[in-house]
Formats: sequence, structure tokens, C-alpha cells
Amino acid sequence: MEAEQDLFHRTSDIARSVLSFMVQNRIPVTPNYYTVWFTYRYGSNEELTRDIRERERRNAPFNQEVTEELYARYFGDKEKQRIIGLVQTEAARILQEIVETALAGLAATTEYTQELQQYSRDLREARGAADVKRIVVGIIRVTVKLEESNALLRAKFAVIAEESANLKKLVEQKEEELLKDHLTDLYNRRALDKKLCEFYDEFQKNGSVFSVIMFDIDLFKEFNDQYGHRIGDEALQIVSGSVRENTKGKDFTARYGGDEFIILLPLTPLYSGAVVAENLRKVVSEKKLKLKNTGELLPKLSISLGLSQVRSGDTVESVVERADAALALAKQFGRNHVKSELDLALR
Ligand code: GH3
Ligand code: MG
Repeated sequence: MEAEQDLFHRTSDIARSVLSFMVQNRIPVTPNYYTVWFTYRYGSNEELTRDIRERERRNAPFNQEVTEELYARYFGDKEKQRIIGLVQTEAARILQEIVETALAGLAATTEYTQELQQYSRDLREARGAADVKRIVVGIIRVTVKLEESNALLRAKFAVIAEESANLKKLVEQKEEELLKDHLTDLYNRRALDKKLCEFYDEFQKNGSVFSVIMFDIDLFKEFNDQYGHRIGDEALQIVSGSVRENTKGKDFTARYGGDEFIILLPLTPLYSGAVVAENLRKVVSEKKLKLKNTGELLPKLSISLGLSQVRSGDTVESVVERADAALALAKQFGRNHVKSELDLALR
């Protein structure tokens, strides 16, 4: 009882301080955002605590954007992993059902087979018409039952097969969700890291070169400040959408974080990557930003792009670092520009 009282007081104190912290920092008190700060103050997620302490050390701001990022990192993905866990449990259940049904079917078949063998023995020893009739009727009965039991088995397996197929689809869908950025529906950083390693391995093994475009929306902070975060989100979606529409299926576009994105271009040397990058720059700078609900047209946005190509001696990180450095150069150059690693050498 003591402990319950303690818990009551402790959590009430935490709840009060979390609410006041969120209000002070203008973080909307939604269930998700509240979870982040309550969990931190309650101290029940070590990774989250470490992350927030590290940000505190750097005097990083705590606002809605950061809270959203923390939620996605420490709770959003966990929620999806929990769903996948449930799906796996369901898969195990179906598997068990298959085994049990198969075993039951086999047992029934064996039982009927034994009966049939007995009838065949009886038949050999039958003494009169009455005996034969009894045996034949028995055989027909068992055969029908056997057929019924197999039909049942077939129907049961048909249901199980369908359940399994649905489950497989669900698992694939959830796995895909884990790799997606929920705002833009592009791939997320986790997916990017994985893909980058794949492309890098392919380069090491077969020498297949790939290029990296890193781009960042120009003066997006100003845009957010002027129109608000919600409209900023919509603009991010429009820009992402037009990038998606203007890259090929084999190209891999991911949101790297905030307003920064990376595109991996497989089997693409630098000069071809430069064509893709310049085309994207142009497409985005001409894209009309029309709001969904009101149809209002906002001023156009532009992006700056940095380009690199994997080379011998590169690590997974160094090829991205060169694209990042080229992007910084494009910003220095006045934004709405493409710069490549070749421009870095010319500085
Ligand atoms: P620069 O041209 O130098 O890139 O200027 P910038 O203002 O874009 O500077 P920076 O890239 O450092 O700022 C990124 C801004 O992007 C900060 C933040 O306001 C905004 N942002 C990042 N993530 C999101 C998001 O998920 N939604 C919205 N609406 N804005 C975001
Ligand atoms: Mg920017």
C-alpha cells in the first residue's frame, strides 16, 4: 500500500512537471509526445534518457520537431516491432494448426486403413452372403468416411493456406513500414544505411559504381517560421513527391533527417548522376506548392544538391561525406545549385 502511494505521488509529480515543461516549450500535449517526456522523466527507457541527456549537453532545443523525432525513434518503431512480434506469434499458431491437422488427418487415415485391411481379411474368410454384404457395407462406409476426412483435411488446408498467405502479406507490409519515413513515405535512415551497405558490397565485389546525391531544402526554416510547421510538413511532402516522381524505380531515395535527403543511384557514374541531380533541382524549383485543403499557392521552394561517386579506397561513410561536402558548397554558392565532388577539388 505504501509503495502504491509512493508511486501515485511520484507519477503525479512527474505528470505535473512534464505538462509544464511541454507547455513552456510549446510542444503540443498529444498522447505520443506526452509519452516521450513522461518516459524520460520516469526514467524507464535508458536509450531515450541517454539521447536526451546528450542533447541537453549540447544545449539542443526541445521542440515539437525533436519530440516527433524522439517518438519515432524510441516508440514508433517499437510499436511496429511489437506488431511484427504479434504477427510472428500468429504465424507460429498457424504452423501448429497445420501440424496438428496433418497429424489428425494421418491418424484418421491410419485408423480407417486398418479397418479396411480388417475388412479385406474378413472378406477372404467370409462364409456366406450375409457376411459378404456386411463387409461390403462396412468397406463403403469406411471409404466414404476416408473421403470425407480427406475432404475436410483439404478444406482445412485451403483455409490455412489462405491465412498463411495473408499473414505473409502482412509481415511484408509491416517490414516495409519499418523502413519508411512516415511523413514523406520515402525510405528512412535505417533503410538507407542498409541499402548503402548493399551497394557498397556490390562495388567491392563487382566494381559496380554508384553515385550519391545529398540534397537539402533551401531556407526551409524561414518557410516554417512564416507558414507554420503543418504547412511546412505539407511542403516537405510535395517536394518529396516530386523527387520520387522524377527518379527511376532502381534509384533509392531516403529522408536522411529533417529537410535533408539522400538518393543512391546504382550503376551510375558521376557524370550521369549530375544529369539526374540537375534535373531534380530544376523540377523542384518549378514545382507549384499548392495546399491540399485551400488550394492556396505558396512561394516555390528550391533545393541544393551535392553529388559524389564511390571510388576505390572509399568507405561507406566517406562517399556520403563527399556528397555532404559538395552540398555545403552548393549552399555557399548561393543555393538552388548542384555541386559535385569534382568542384570540391577545384576550390
Ligand atoms: P539552408 O538553406 O541552409 O538549408 O537553410 P535552412 O533554413 O533549410 O536550414 P536547415 O536545413 O538547417 O534547417 C532545416 C529546417 O527544416 C529546420 C526545421 O524548421 C525544418 N524541418 C526539419 N524537419 C522538419 C519536419 O519534419 N517538418 C517541418 N515542417 N519542418 C522541418
Ligand atoms: Mg535546409
